[in-house]
Amino acid sequence: MSAKRRPPIAHVPLKDRANCDQCGELVDTRANGVGEVVHGVAINRQQGGANMIALMERQHRWLCRPCIDLRKRGHKWEQTKLDLFGESDG
Ligand SMILES: [Zn+2]
Repeated sequence: MSAKRRPPIAHVPLKDRANCDQCGELVDTRANGVGEVVHGVAINRQQGGANMIALMERQHRWLCRPCIDLRKRGHKWEQTKLDLFGESDG
């Protein structure tokens, strides 16, 4: 078994680099699986749930794929430097 290698960041233009909001890892913001934190309105659909975000405002804050995966699995980080996803404890 071979561990997946992270592609080198050295060739990534500076404008496309950012630090993950959660772990601080330097990421290529164009890379598959990297995500930008946004604010917006989730529009309900007839079948239930929501599948579209309108009025999206970019936050220029990014998360790496592992951090997104952890979050999707319900991982709770300790109080973070930034209030991701607008949640608050309490
Ligand atoms: Zn991360």
